[in-house]
Amino acid sequence: MFKIIKIDFYDQFKCITSDCPDNCCDNEWNITIDEKTYELYKTAFGADIDAVISPMVPHVIIKHNGNCPFITEEGLCILHKNLGEQFLSNTCRYYPRFASTYGDTYLETLGMSCPAVARMVVDYDKYILFEEKVHYEVKSELGEKFRRLPIEKAARDYISLFVTGKGKKSIYEDIYQKVSQGKGMPDIDLHGVIEYLNKIFMDNSASKYLTVLFGEKYDEYIKDNRKLFETELILESEYPWFASNFNRIFFFEHFMLESLKEDPLYTCVVLEGAIAWMLFLVAISAVKQQAGVISEDDVINCTYKLMRVIDHDENVLRSIVTASYIG
Ligand code: SF4
Repeated sequence: MFKIIKIDFYDQFKCITSDCPDNCCDNEWNITIDEKTYELYKTAFGADIDAVISPMVPHVIIKHNGNCPFITEEGLCILHKNLGEQFLSNTCRYYPRFASTYGDTYLETLGMSCPAVARMVVDYDKYILFEEKVHYEVKSELGEKFRRLPIEKAARDYISLFVTGKGKKSIYEDIYQKVSQGKGMPDIDLHGVIEYLNKIFMDNSASKYLTVLFGEKYDEYIKDNRKLFETELILESEYPWFASNFNRIFFFEHFMLESLKEDPLYTCVVLEGAIAWMLFLVAISAVKQQAGVISEDDVINCTYKLMRVIDHDENVLRSIVTASYIG
């Protein structure tokens, strides 16, 4: 008997391939190739493969000017087109789908760093749920009750607090109090967060996303939190489900994943969520100021670009939290 928890639009996801405004293959991310797929490519292409995939473990695709060498000018993958999906590595086959395992419980979700997923989140017109389905492997298990893990129960309780009409930072403050058994959440110094991000990304490609996200205008938004919360109110009036759903997805995933660590720090997850949300508000405020309105494309762009910064290096938020709030 096992259980699969799935974000409720998981099965509706479809990659928009050549229509994608920012194809994940043409990104400066490292695309890792699992050992099995690497051996498959080596058999098919011989030593030539070493020019496009590093022979050292972990194998990664060697990008040319930031582009994947397997992508055609029309934005199609040669491997997929000529050889079929079974020839793709796990990363290429499953992204933006992510799976994690908690004993007999499996979580399947979608990464908001993909523009098509970000659009699904913006267009969703109800609260996102994480559906669960128990699978019975032998007849004798039928009718048996599947016991929810305490961590899943807590994650579900907390994400149910993200409702429209209540400031998301204050929801994080409430969750922090519960997780820390009464301690108040430390103030978030956004200026420090952004300075820190600039410093740690100085030498790598993620800095370009920061410039796209924050431009040179972010300064005035981070000086005055009220401006950010005004933006949040406008955002909620135009896209009533988005803010709650963004935070529900972010929090559920990260809270569950934290439980897999040897020494889980749940207060850090709460701070990470609050920081991610405030960074999103800075980005959308800067975009809004330029155009005067918040368009659907702005929300999509800010979502997937911010999530690419965060996903590019999964430790980025944790470094900020430990350096600024814990350590
Ligand atoms: S980013 Fe998403 S929509 Fe775009 S190519 Fe990749 S999986 Fe497809």
